[in-house]
Formats: sequence, C-alpha cells, structure tokens
Amino acid sequence: MSIDLQFDQQHLWHPYTSSLKPLPCYPVASAEGCELILEDGRRLVDGMASWWACIHGYQVAQLDQAVQQQLSKMSHVMFGGLTHQPAIDLCKKLVALTPENLQQVFISDSGSVAVEVALKMALQYWQAKGEPRAKFATVRNGYHGDTFAAMSVSDPQGGMHQLYQGFLAEHFFCDAPQTRFDEPWNNADISPMKTLLAEHHRSIAAVIIEPIVQGAGGMRIYHPEYLKALRALCDEYGLLLIADEIATGFGRTGKLFACEHAQIQPDILCLGKGLTGGYMSLAATLTSKHIAHTICSGDAGVFMHGPTFMGNPLACAVANASIELLLNSPWQQRVEHIQAQLNQGLATCLSLDSIADVRVLGAIGVVEAKRPVDLAQIQAKFVELGVWIRPFGKLIYLMPPYTISDAQLERLCSAIYRVMAEL
Ligand SMILES: *Cc1c(COP(=O)(O)O)cnc(C)c1O
Repeated sequence: MSIDLQFDQQHLWHPYTSSLKPLPCYPVASAEGCELILEDGRRLVDGMASWWACIHGYQVAQLDQAVQQQLSKMSHVMFGGLTHQPAIDLCKKLVALTPENLQQVFISDSGSVAVEVALKMALQYWQAKGEPRAKFATVRNGYHGDTFAAMSVSDPQGGMHQLYQGFLAEHFFCDAPQTRFDEPWNNADISPMKTLLAEHHRSIAAVIIEPIVQGAGGMRIYHPEYLKALRALCDEYGLLLIADEIATGFGRTGKLFACEHAQIQPDILCLGKGLTGGYMSLAATLTSKHIAHTICSGDAGVFMHGPTFMGNPLACAVANASIELLLNSPWQQRVEHIQAQLNQGLATCLSLDSIADVRVLGAIGVVEAKRPVDLAQIQAKFVELGVWIRPFGKLIYLMPPYTISDAQLERLCSAIYRVMAEL
C-alpha cells in the first residue's frame, strides 16, 4: 500500500497551507536515528528534529520501551479525581530540574495550551489579589502558539493580528531585544520595555517572553543581560514574568533551560516540544507556591483549567524516559560540539551574496537570506541532496537531534551552502 498523496492533497490541511494550492508533501514511511525514510526508500538527514522536539532522534529504544510498558498498563485515564505514577514522576523531575521557586505543575497537552494556562494563571493571580488586570506586555518577534490568547501575545505582524482583529485581545508590545547573544551588552536595549512598563504597569498582569531565543517569530538570539534587566523591571513593578521555554527547554541552547544563561527565575514557566523527546504531545506550566496559593485563595477557589487528556499516562511515561535519557547522556558536550560544528559549517554561507546573516547558539543554526525563499522549490532541492530542512520566509535553520553525527551535520550545513549558492 502506498501513501495516498492524492487524497492528502484533496482533503488534508497541513500547517499554514492552502486548500487551493497545497504545497507538495513528501510521504515518510518511517524514521530512525537522525534520518527520515521516505516511502521510495530515500533517506533524509533530519535537520529539524520535528520542530525542536525529537532531541534524541527517532526509534529510540528506551523511549519505545517506555511507551510499550505503559501501554500494557493503561494508555489514558481522566486526571480529575485520579492520579498515577507517570504524572507524579514527571512532576518530581520538572520541579527538581527547573528554578527552585517553581513548585506547582500543571500538565497539559500542547505548547499553545501551556501558554493559555500560564496567561490564565497570571489573570487569576491578580483577580485573587483584588486587583484585576487584563493586559500582558511582551516584545515584538515573539511566538507563543496558535490559540487565541497565545496569538494575542505573538508578533503582531505576519497577518495573525490583522486577520482576527476585533476578536483578538490587544496587548502591549515593544521592540525586541537588539543586542546579540555574544555582543557587548548595551543597556539602551531594555529602554523600550522600561518605557512601556513605566507607563502601563498598573494594567499589566505579566510580561511573557521566550528567553534568549525567539523561535518561530524570527529565530533571533539575544543577550542574557536583557533577561536580567527584564526580571529586575518585573520585580520593580511587582509584575509576573512568564518564560516560554517551549522551544528552548531541555538543552537546546546549551543550558538545560535558557533562563540559566541569565540566572533568573521566572514566576511562570512553559515547557513542551522536547518534553517527550518528540514522541507525543505534552506540555507543562510551572509556577511558585506563592502564586498557586494566591490563585486558589481567590473567588474561584481553584485554578480554572482541566483538559480531557491532562496528564496522559503514555505521554508522561515517555517524558520521564526522555528526561532520564537526556540527563544520563553527555548532552551538554553534544550540544557544544554541534554549536562548534554549526559555527564552522554555516560560516561559509556568509560569503554568498544571497545571505544577510548567520547566527548560532547551542544546537540551533540560522542562516538568514536577504529575500524570502521559494519554499516548494528550495525544499525539493534539499530533498534531492538527502536532507530534511524546512525554511520559512528568509530563514533557513537547523535544530537537529542532539545525537546527530559529524558526517550528518556536515551534510546539512553543506546542503544549505549549495542550495543558497544556486539562488
Ligand atoms: C511551538 C511553540 C509554542 C506552541 O506549541 P504547540 O505545541 O505548537 O502548541 C509556544 N511557544 C513557543 C516558544 C513555541 O516554540
């Protein structure tokens, strides 16, 4: 049986695609190690880790086993009034690994929902204090997910805000950090946020930000001092700081969590993507006892959220196995090694006329073109070269599994050079 591409074209929506002009899709039959295996047998080196998630690669024995073992007990039970060891074990791990103040965990089913939960926590916190506040502050170029509240704090450009105008909540935005990760820090970088908060802090419940790396909103990598200054500003005005580490968590930037680059503790932390090693959809929102207890001493008396698949045992079991595997691996050396190789392998692109910038942090490598690339065309060229790289707009980027070999990573870097050299 071959994969019915025609049915796919006619009936399936893929992320951000048209039903009128569907982009070509490549039928993948299986995946193994750091390779995707297409139906026709071609093997593609995976540069995307399935959107940050597959940090250990595919068909990982320990993770397969964790799912199978859990499957033989139960795949799901409701979380209302019931609990189970996989969820408890996961929360123990998350509490132990994340900043010390974060002691209360809400497990949900996807990153966007984890952000909704974080925003709700902040709203309920101020409600309970008898000082209701309905605004959030953030920086431009952010991305926090596709649900409505998450969209409302994502970058206002790019169509989404315009598109849903009148329904989408309006929040406060200021310019994104400009100082790059390894540039000398310039204190003026925090000025736009300082001005915004000075003016509006009385109506703001929280500031939400992706620490150090802005992902889908532009793959921008900024200076840790910005986060420190932001933490200080939030403290000054008594505002909550929400760190969205859905993309950056679990080692991607070279630290287990990107907040560690700035040694700050957020009040609320969102995790997802790499949480299950890319096996299943799962996310978590963590907060402090103080915030949790304040929320629950309010009128509502409870935290008002409870998804059907909350705490899904299969997903929790594989998350536990993934975290154990990560912590028992030399992940930090691997990520440093990938960083060094990306720096070397992508630097050559800077000599090309079509390229505006190259930037690297941890296991993230970004090549920014001067003009947006033709996705269908460039994707086909990458597939011909035996690599899976999915650009968006002007950005061609890599975030491979940490287990990628030198030869595989070399293949990814040189494919980018070759394809961009032909443009
Ligand atoms: C991907 C992402 C989300 C949304 O997660 P989903 O699982 O796609 O809903 C939120 N925030 C950041 C920073 C992300 O990278």
